[in-house]
Amino acid sequence: MQGKFVTGINCMDGRVQLPVIEYLKNKYGADYVDMITEPGPIKILSENEEKFAVESMRNRVKISALGHGSSLIAVVGHYDCAGNPACREVQRKQTLSAMEVVRSWGFALQIIGLWVDENWEVCEI
Ligand SMILES: [Zn+2]
Repeated sequence: MQGKFVTGINCMDGRVQLPVIEYLKNKYGADYVDMITEPGPIKILSENEEKFAVESMRNRVKISALGHGSSLIAVVGHYDCAGNPACREVQRKQTLSAMEVVRSWGFALQIIGLWVDENWEVCEI
């Protein structure tokens, strides 16, 4: 596979796609970002109850990791999330437990957590 792939588990919200892509390109030297989107994915992953949704995300991570050789996965929460209307502190905890769930999947990927703030700027958790 040509180029460096990384992976995002991001909200479906259109406001957070480009900020996350640009961040991963600039900070981690990614050429391409495989974006896996759900409404409020850190809520879905941290609760780990919607088995179909969780398994669907896992399967897409597998394709990105094994098919594209992705080296890193970013788990993302953001300000004003319609699918996960929780405050920043709650979302920070959700992101950490979502990262643990992703880690339990066993792929050889660096796992990071990101927060997209009210100015649509990205920082690491
Ligand atoms: Zn959202």
